[in-house]
Amino acid sequence: MVTTKKYYCYGLCLLISVAVNILFSINIYAGGGLSWSEKAAAEAEEVAAISCSGHGRSYVDGLIFEGQPVCECFQCYGGTDCSVLSSECAADANSGDPVFLEPFWMQHATDSAVVISGWHRMSYHYADGTAMSKELEKYICKVHSLVGNAVTKGRYLVFRIGSTQLLNAAVYALSSENASSPSNVLASIPFYPMYKEQTMFFKSEDFQFEGDTNSWLSNNWTNNMDVVEFVTSPNNPDGELKQSVLGGKTIYDHAYFWPHFTPIPAPADHDLMIFTLSKLTGHAGARFGWAIIKDKQVYEKVLEYISMADLGISRDTQLRVLKLLNVAVEDDGKPLFDFSYNKLRNRWDRLTNVFSKSRRFSIQKRRPLHCNFFNETRLPSPAYAWVKCEREEEDDCGAVLQAGKIVGRAGSKFSTSDRYTRLSLIKSQYDFELLMQRLTELVSLENGHTETL
Ligand code: PMP
Repeated sequence: MVTTKKYYCYGLCLLISVAVNILFSINIYAGGGLSWSEKAAAEAEEVAAISCSGHGRSYVDGLIFEGQPVCECFQCYGGTDCSVLSSECAADANSGDPVFLEPFWMQHATDSAVVISGWHRMSYHYADGTAMSKELEKYICKVHSLVGNAVTKGRYLVFRIGSTQLLNAAVYALSSENASSPSNVLASIPFYPMYKEQTMFFKSEDFQFEGDTNSWLSNNWTNNMDVVEFVTSPNNPDGELKQSVLGGKTIYDHAYFWPHFTPIPAPADHDLMIFTLSKLTGHAGARFGWAIIKDKQVYEKVLEYISMADLGISRDTQLRVLKLLNVAVEDDGKPLFDFSYNKLRNRWDRLTNVFSKSRRFSIQKRRPLHCNFFNETRLPSPAYAWVKCEREEEDDCGAVLQAGKIVGRAGSKFSTSDRYTRLSLIKSQYDFELLMQRLTELVSLENGHTETL
């Protein structure tokens, strides 16, 4: 009896052991012994660990060559591992790519990474039938409330693919329908080119681009006040905190209204305000922007525009943004905004030092203001230097800088004179160092000697 029991027990153990082995082998075969999230994480870490000689990055979704992810080299570097420097390379300060925040996210790698399952939110809708994450809405309101830069209580929120997509949605929503003449869209020179370009591109019977607010005023066209005015505050390109000139319907573009770029004097409370993740956390590639709207009818018109354009934004993006904002609000935003402000303040200190030695070039004046977020009076540290060539004969400042191997964005792009050029200060540290080197060379040539950093 005892022996039969013993055999029975051996048989059962053998069976269990075989089953466990089969399951284990299937698991190994399918996922290398890792769970699906561990496998995804291992792949992400493996690719992120490729050094590209410190002069490039490789990404999970980058090109693959001979089974290996390819290094995407920084400007001026080449070769398969980005180790080859081209010494005559120009400093490219053209685009407003906010990569200056990349080191912050590397420092916060553990808290900001996201794993997305193969079946993550496949539906068109969230469970409540909407296309916007309620949790993400909460986080956006939380960021605004702790920074103190916008009123969100009792307001409507709309998410879009970057704030770029919101600009025309806002123009559409504020334009008068079925009026005898189209609404007039205006902005104050120098202004961000997209307002004009989009309004002209998305031609409509309901709106038309009419140019500069001050010309509009001086031409006494105020009898037709069906205007939609873009107010960019702080302004791109010159960093000015702007107010409406015409006092009609307004779209406040607050892309740069964050403590890294400007002191925050008070929460903004305009009828329609636009913000973007691009200039808050630096994730321009995530393509996420939002509008804060007071009026229900305007909100509904923006929703109508969205339902025609694209049925809302990617749920994967919303998950990622949620994760990033989770980190942004840690310790009431101190780590993020201390990092971003200090980085830009340091850049401005170095930049003003170089320009202080020049009579040929000048940059915009900055005025100190009280910042409610940092609770002290500070100078702004705008995203861009707005450079003026002072010599009478040098009326194409972009060409002058280009000759000194510096690429900026011409004043005429911002509907003003080419005597001005915009230089981006929010690119990577490497880009900024090269810009400083070229500027130092240019200014010391003016002073009759050659100096390098
Ligand atoms: N508004 C302003 C004033 C900008 O400078 C930019 C980007 N450079 C945008 C809107 C668009 O930003 P995004 O589409 O990345 O949100």
